[in-house]
Amino acid sequence: MYLSPPDIGELEESYVLNALRSGWVAPVGPDLDAFEDEMADRVGAAHAVAVTSGTAALHLALLALGVGPGQVVVVPTLTFVATANAAVYAGAEPVFVDCEASTGNIDVALMADLLARLRAEGRKVGAVLPVDMFGACADYATLLPVCEVLGVPVVEDAAEALGATHAGQPAGSFGHAAVLSFNGNKIMTTSGGGMVVTSDAALADRCRYLSTQARQPVRHYEHAEVGYNYRLSNLLAALGRAQLRRLDEMTARRRLLRDRYTKVFASAPGVRLLAADDAGSNCWLTTIVVDPRVAGWHAGEMATHLATQDVETRPVWKPMHLQPVYAGSRGAITGAAERLFAHGLTLPSGSALTDRHIDRVFDAIHTFLEDRR
Ligand SMILES: *Cc1c(COP(=O)(O)O)cnc(C)c1O
Repeated sequence: MYLSPPDIGELEESYVLNALRSGWVAPVGPDLDAFEDEMADRVGAAHAVAVTSGTAALHLALLALGVGPGQVVVVPTLTFVATANAAVYAGAEPVFVDCEASTGNIDVALMADLLARLRAEGRKVGAVLPVDMFGACADYATLLPVCEVLGVPVVEDAAEALGATHAGQPAGSFGHAAVLSFNGNKIMTTSGGGMVVTSDAALADRCRYLSTQARQPVRHYEHAEVGYNYRLSNLLAALGRAQLRRLDEMTARRRLLRDRYTKVFASAPGVRLLAADDAGSNCWLTTIVVDPRVAGWHAGEMATHLATQDVETRPVWKPMHLQPVYAGSRGAITGAAERLFAHGLTLPSGSALTDRHIDRVFDAIHTFLEDRR
């Protein structure tokens, strides 16, 4: 039983079949346009550019902001590697910032210190790339004013957060641009895909142009710059439209799971849920954090037990500053992300899990907890 399998049904079948039959089997077509419009509406942005992955969307958003060699991009150390890689693709240097223990999201005070130091050194910060960890938004109410004062653009990595809100505003609406992912394990999927959403028309145009090989608007193939082949297929956009129609239903199911985990672990000493207090989370993944001195067991022991019951779990992201590929990178590190990596455990959270699957997960957790009382 997987952590977060795709949730695909008849609506998706009919959308994809219609797209196939329409003949628009290319990275252009009416479903692609409609998918962008519908998603822009959903996140409250004026423009959307659909591309082949969230990673491609991050890359384009940074390029469109003019991020390049000689610049720094500030990235949370607790994230999926794509966030940091995008900075490298753009030719910039990622500098890592540690997280808040309670949510796993970027530590804004630490980020502010780092930005001040970088400025004092005369370094140009091309962008800050906050991540909405496991579906809970970063603290934009505090973060955005800090970046605004310093004139540093913000790209929201909302790959995990579609459907979430922060202070009543939807994920995907913060910063100069935001990035969504429709990878197979995300809250909704196009099998693979991503999007840049923004209210900046010029930025959206630049992303769209770069995603289609930077072709000049003439009849023959004319190129004045190096572009990318990043545009999403119309077929996959059709799948995305069906999934978007079901987003609220899928999110509600994940929230149900979250509520059940909250109840079960409320009576387990030394166990808390990551971002437990965030009512705006889309509940993409539910993660527990175990204090072994209080609980009397390690997160890894529960993972081992659940694996014997064929229940998949995962550690929290391994921090970027511990990754061999980013060894020697600069960072403002407190140890908070390392502790979440050591003591966190992500539990089955997918909306496609059946009632029977879910019962099996909770039976296995009950048995584990009972054995340790
Ligand atoms: C999934 C994810 C991405 C990358 O998205 P892809 O569509 O898989 O390329 C980027 N950032 C974060 C935080 C993610 O979770």
